[in-house]
Amino acid sequence: MHSMAEPVTSITVVGGGTAGWLAATYLRSKCAPKIAITLIESPNVPTVGVGEATVPHMPVTLREMGIDDKEFFRRCNTSFKMGVMFRGWNVDHKGRPFDYMNPFAPPPKIDGVEAGHYFQAFGAGRRDYIQSFSPLMDLLDAGKCPLSFNAKNDPMPRAGYAYHLDAGAFAKMLAEVGVARGVEHVLDDVDGVELDDTGHVAALNLRALGRRPVQLVIDCTGFKGLVIREALGEPFENYSDYLANDRAMALPIPHADPEVLPAATSSTALGAGWSWSVPLYHRIGTGYVYSSAHRTDDAARDDFMAHLGDRAPKGAEPRVIPMRIGRMRRAWVKNCVALGLSGGFIEPLESTAIHMIDMGIRWLLQYFPSRDYEESTRAAYNRCADEMYNEVRDFICLHYRLGNRTDTDYWCDARGLKITDRLEGWLDLWQRQLPVEMDIGRANLFDHNTFQAVLLGKRVYENGWGAARLNRSFALSEKRWKAFLRDSAARNMAVVKAKADHRRALRVLR
Ligand code: FAD
Repeated sequence: MHSMAEPVTSITVVGGGTAGWLAATYLRSKCAPKIAITLIESPNVPTVGVGEATVPHMPVTLREMGIDDKEFFRRCNTSFKMGVMFRGWNVDHKGRPFDYMNPFAPPPKIDGVEAGHYFQAFGAGRRDYIQSFSPLMDLLDAGKCPLSFNAKNDPMPRAGYAYHLDAGAFAKMLAEVGVARGVEHVLDDVDGVELDDTGHVAALNLRALGRRPVQLVIDCTGFKGLVIREALGEPFENYSDYLANDRAMALPIPHADPEVLPAATSSTALGAGWSWSVPLYHRIGTGYVYSSAHRTDDAARDDFMAHLGDRAPKGAEPRVIPMRIGRMRRAWVKNCVALGLSGGFIEPLESTAIHMIDMGIRWLLQYFPSRDYEESTRAAYNRCADEMYNEVRDFICLHYRLGNRTDTDYWCDARGLKITDRLEGWLDLWQRQLPVEMDIGRANLFDHNTFQAVLLGKRVYENGWGAARLNRSFALSEKRWKAFLRDSAARNMAVVKAKADHRRALRVLR
C-alpha cells in the first residue's frame, strides 16, 4: 500500500476487445495527461467479436470522445437501431405467435395520463400498443431510418436511436484513435499476475517483454477474467438459476436484398432460445442464444440453420461461443476494476453489455482512486455495478417469466426459472395495475415505460396472466382516446413519409 493520497499516475488495461479499447480510448480522452494509459493485448487470443447492437447512450459516448461521425459510419459499417423487435416470443389466445417491439421512444401522456392506461382500457383496433402512439414499426416496414433529409417536414425530427456496428472494426477504430491520442499499445500475452503482500496487483509478467509494474489495472480479458478471477480469486456469482441460456452460435450472413435495411435489432424465438439479427450496412450479424440443457450444439445448429434457411451462405458453419452467465461478486477488487465480459455477462437480449462497459468507465472517472484504493471508493463504485446488474437481470428475466409458449420444454422451463424478490413483487403488483414511475425508482436503462412496453407488447392482460381490468382511479374518455388514435395515425403517416430511406441515408452519412 502507498502513503495517503498518492495519486494514480498510470492505468493498465489488459485486453483489446470492445471493453479494453473503449476504456483506454475514453479514459485517454478524459483523464489528465499526467496519467499514462497502456493497453496490453494478446496477439493470440481472439476477441469475442459479436457485440454489435447498442443502446441510445452510444451516440453520446462517441460524441464525447470526439469520434468523427463520417468515419464511424464508414469504418464500422454502422446502421441505425430504433429498438428491438421480438418475434414469436408470445402467442395469442389461439396459439398464434405474434411480434412486438421494445422501442427507443417513450409513450406520450394524454391530458396527463400515460397512453398505456388508455390502451389497456380501450385497445387500438388492429394496431398494437407501440403502433398506437409511435411510427417506429411502420418506419421499419417502410425501410426508413430515424433521420430525415428535410427536418422541416418531419413531425418527429428528434427520434431516439442507437447503432448497429461491426464489433471488430469498432475496436480497431477506437484503437487507432486511442493510440493517436497517446495510449501506449503493447501486443503481448500476460502470462502471470504478481501480487504484493497486501494482495494488490504489483506487476504483470509479459511473455515477450517480461515484468511490468502496474498501478490501477483494468481487467478486460473477456470471459477468462485473468486478473479479477484467476489472480485475485474474486468469486463468480452464477445466474444459471435465473437464466437458462449458456451458449451461443454466431454466423454473419449477407443481406438478402441489399436495398432493404431494417433499422432495428430483431430477436426471434426458436426451440431452445432465440436468434438475433443485427443488420449492419454490409452484412447481417446473426446468431442463436440457447440452453445447453435443452439442446446439444448439433441440435442447436439444426434449429438455427433451419431458421436461416437459404439465407445462410452455402457451406457456412456457425461459430459456437460458450457463455459464462453471471458476474463477479464485486466489479472492483483491490487495485483491479473488471470491465466487459471479465466482470460479468447477462445474455445479450437487450444489447446491454457495451452500455455496461460505458457506464463502468464513467463511474471509474467519478470514483477515481488514490493509490490507497480506499474501501469507500471501491464500495461506491461496486454499488453502481450492483444496481446495474440487478436492473438488467430483472428486465431480462421478465421476458421469460411472461412468455406463454408451450411448444417446447425450453419455453415452459424458462417461465419457471427463479426471479428476484423485487421482480416477484413487481409482477404481483402489475397483475392488477400497469407499472408506474415510483415502482422502479432510479433506472439506468429500463424505466417503467419499458416495463409497460413489454407487458402490453406481450398482451399479457389479454392472455390470462393478469386481471383483465386493471385498478385505476382516473376517468378515461374513450372519445378522447379515439381522437388521439386518429391524430396519432395521421402523424405517424406523415413521419413515415418524411423520414429518409435507411440505406440511402447511410450512403450519405458515409
Ligand atoms: P473480448 O472481446 O473477449 O476481449 C478479450 C481481450 O482480452 C482480447 O483482446 C484478448 O486478446 C485479451 N486477452 C485475453 N487473455 C489475455 C492475456 N493472457 N494477455 C493479454 N490479453 C489477453 N453486447 C452488446 O452490447 N450488444 C450485443 O448485441 C451483444 N451481443 C452479444 C452476443 C453474444 C453471443 C455474446 C457472447 C456477447 C454479446 N455482447 C453484446 C457482449 C459483447 O460482445 C462484449 O461485452 C464486448 O464485446 C466486450 O468484450 P470484452 O472486450 O470484454 O472481451
